[in-house]
Formats: sequence, structure tokens, C-alpha cells
Amino acid sequence: MNKKYDILILGSGPAGIHAAVAGAQHGASMALLDMARSPGGRVLKTAEDGRDLAHTTGAELHSAQKLQNLFNSHSSSFDYFPGSTVVDLVDRQAVIDGPQGQLTLSGRKVILAPGAVEAPAIFHNWTTPGIYTLGGYNNMIKRGQKLTRPLLAAGSGPLLYALAANVSKSGGKLAGLLDAASFAQNVDLGQTLLGGGYFDKLMVVNKAFFTLLGTTWKHRCRISAVEGEEGDFTIRTVYMDGNWKTTKPGPVFKAGAVAVSYGLHPNTDLARRCECAHSYDPITGIWSTIVDDFMRASVPGIYLAGDGVEIKGYEGAAIDGRLAGLAAVTDLGLGDGLGREMRALQKKRRACGTFAAALSACSEPGDGYFAELADDMVICRCENITIRNIRSALAEGARDRNGVKKRTRMGMGHCQGRYCGQVVDRILAALAASDHIPALFGPRTPVLPVRMGVLAGLEMPVDEEFRS
Ligand SMILES: Cc1cc2nc3c(=O)[nH]c(=O)nc-3n(C[C@H](O)[C@H](O)[C@H](O)COP(=O)(O)OP(=O)(O)OC[C@H]3O[C@@H](n4cnc5c(N)ncnc54)[C@H](O)[C@@H]3O)c2cc1C
Repeated sequence: MNKKYDILILGSGPAGIHAAVAGAQHGASMALLDMARSPGGRVLKTAEDGRDLAHTTGAELHSAQKLQNLFNSHSSSFDYFPGSTVVDLVDRQAVIDGPQGQLTLSGRKVILAPGAVEAPAIFHNWTTPGIYTLGGYNNMIKRGQKLTRPLLAAGSGPLLYALAANVSKSGGKLAGLLDAASFAQNVDLGQTLLGGGYFDKLMVVNKAFFTLLGTTWKHRCRISAVEGEEGDFTIRTVYMDGNWKTTKPGPVFKAGAVAVSYGLHPNTDLARRCECAHSYDPITGIWSTIVDDFMRASVPGIYLAGDGVEIKGYEGAAIDGRLAGLAAVTDLGLGDGLGREMRALQKKRRACGTFAAALSACSEPGDGYFAELADDMVICRCENITIRNIRSALAEGARDRNGVKKRTRMGMGHCQGRYCGQVVDRILAALAASDHIPALFGPRTPVLPVRMGVLAGLEMPVDEEFRS
């Protein structure tokens, strides 16, 4: 199947849905695609195959239901393709591996709303089964995963506290909570939440505080090593200064599972594939697709929205999505007199940007953390590449991540550098100092795993369990 639309929207999270609603209100023909089987994105999916978000805190569940209603009330105005993975995007034409096999859809305008990727937290034995990311564990609990043994949670920002609240709601127990941020940073973050109108997040954080009474809760503390196996972990921690340099040993914890991540980064897979320009922030290590005030990328006809361009939560993603949708219909000549609404959205977007900056300042590790990574620590878990391997590649003349990739296979495994790619520039900066040149991995197709038959152009229906 090959079909053309006015607007193609990739990702049906809050950003994608709000973009689709804006387009629908102005008569654009549209397709909304997502590899997930139901709309709502990473956080606000309501029900999937009859499983509801049993252990989601009230505020988030309410937002999820509101988003679902918004989707339902406009879904007759666009074609929706669930369970459909975009594996390539060139010249505003997307190649999709979906339930109907291969599908090619093109748009006069394309809005990318692919969400975020969690950066790996690196310490001794971080790849041991039973150690999850904060977001991953949060999603498991919300969908009914039973916590039979205490969980140690480490990270920072609202995601850490949302997990604490959800653990408590599910009847589980926390072995401890390690916030990488200082108390003062949390106060700053709280103020930006208030200024940006993030009332859901404030309610979730507030709820979490009550659940933490009686729990070991440390600030400026991170995991340095995990020993043992799932169900019976011993976790060593350190206290650190503002630059994440170790100041002294922290408490030792016993826990059955660990949830940890330090920062979310925009998912740039598709934007890189269609050659949009990106910028790099050496302080946070975050690569972002460059957009103008109307969410337009450097490549004509491509727009970005949501966590895929800046991490500012589902509230901020909704604003981005509507702005990108309105900008696209205006550029198509379908919308008139939208300037006032777009200016109001741009103002709200700036307020959310203040939260985004405070969030990355407290979530992204400082230089001290990268300087302390030991030679035997694994960086690319798909190809088992360690700091020692990276040092050797640098000694052989590698100057950037692509040079390291050529010499070691780092970033060439199953995830195609999606995880190690979030931290590798910071590591190279720590190991090679001024010799290092920040770079992105060269984009490769397929951007996500694809079935061979689909690549060969065959029609290949998939069983429903294939997608999650
Ligand atoms: C693992 C994880 C857990 C999170 N948990 C929380 C939480 O508990 N609370 C919170 O406030 N925030 C959480 N966040 C942040 C949260 O995702 C966002 O703030 C919000 O959902 C952003 O909305 P969005 O529309 O930009 O992206 P998302 O909601 O992430 O939606 C993006 C969509 O794009 C789809 N997609 C991506 N690439 C492709 C592709 N190639 N083909 C097809 N579809 C694709 C994804 O399946 C996804 O449904 C989490 C983020 C992650 C990564």
C-alpha cells in the first residue's frame, strides 16, 4: 500500500495526538502512526488489550483518560495505524513495518513526535538482569507487575517520584530512594513546575513525599556498584558533589530489584535519517534537532514535537504538538488567522522550556561521574564494549563516536546505539578531552528492527503479540 496525505504524524503520544487534532480542525488529510498498539504514547496510554493502568496515580490516569477522549472525538478525521513501526524516512516518505506488512506513506508535511530515550546509568554490573530503567519499571508497575521484593530507585526529577508513588499504590515496598539532585535543585525544579503549569506532576511528587516517610531517602547520592543477582542484590552507593564527583561512600542497600536512570534524551532516529540539523549541549550531553519557533526543522516540510525535540513532559509535549500541527496547516495554506493562538502556544512553550532546563540540569550526570568510570565498565551492552575498548580506539586515532564505532562495533548491535549513544560523547570528552569531536551516529536504515520479509516487499501480517 502506498498512500499520500497532507500531513503524516509519526508517534501517537500527547504530541502526536495534539498535532493530529490541530490538523483535523483545519481539514488536513492525515495519517497518525505508532509502533504501539494503542494511542497515548509512553505515559498516557490508558488501556491496552484490556489491561488498565491499575497502579497509576490519579492525576496521570485522569490525563490519560482526557487524552484518550480527545483522540476518540477526532479519530474519524484521520487514518490511524497502530502497531506500525517507521523503519525509514526519506523525502517525507515513511517505510513502515506494520500488521499489514510493508506500507509506504508520504506526507506534504511530516510531524515527528517519537518521544524520548532513557540514558543508561553506568556502574559496576549495571547490565545484570533485574536492573531496569526508571521509566521501564514505572510502566511495568502501572500495568500490574507485582513487586514481591523491595525495590531500590535511583535517579532524579518527577519520574523518580512518580515511581515511588506508583510502588506505594501497587502495595510494593521501596528499599530506598536515591535522588541525584540536591534538595535545593529540587526546590528550583518545583518552582519551574509551578511556573510551567505542571499541576499533575506537582500532585504526583506531593503524593510521593508521603509514601517516602520511613524510607531511606538520600540526596546527592548515586549507585556505584551492584552485586548479587535479581531478587538478592547488594547495592553500594556514593555521595557526590555538584559535579557528581564522589565525596564519600554512601549507605549499602539490600533489594530485590533496582530501577535507575540518569536523564531522558530526545529520540533523534528519524530526524537524523532525514538529515535535519542537530545541536549538541556539551554540559548535558544532549543532542536535539534544531527547530524554529514554529517547530520547523532545517529540512523543509519536517516538523518536530514533544520529547523528541526537548524533554518537558506530556504537558509540554501537548503544547508542542498543537503548535506543530497549526504551523503545518498554515504552511499548507489550510489555516488562516492562527497567528494569535500560535503566539500564545509559543509563550507557554517557553515556560515549559524553563522546566526542561531545570530537569536536565539535575538529571544529567556531571563530569565527575564520567571521569570515574572504570576500565572494565560496559558502555555498549549490545556489543559488550567497555571503557578499555574505547580507550584503545582513541589510542588508535579515533576522534569521535563514529571512529570508535568503526574500531569496536560500539553502537552496531540490536539497539543501534540508541542507548550508549546518549552518553558516549560525555565519555569521549572525559577520556580524550579537547581531542574529542562531538558527533551523532551516522543514520542507518532500518532505524528499528524490521522483519526480513517486509524488507523484501512481501505482505506479512503479524500476530498481535508482535508489538508492545
Ligand atoms: C520509558 C519512558 C518512561 C516514561 N515514563 C514517564 C512517566 O511515568 N511520567 C512522565 O511524566 N513522563 C514519563 N516519560 C516521559 C514521557 O514519555 C513524556 O513526557 C511524554 O509522554 C512525551 O510525549 P510525546 O508525545 O513527546 O512522546 P511519547 O509519549 O513518548 O510518544 C512517542 C510515541 O512515538 C512512538 N514511536 C517512536 N519511534 C517510532 C517509530 N520509529 N515508529 C513508530 N512509532 C514510533 C512510540 O511508540 C511512542 O508511542 C517517560 C519516557 C520514557 C522514554
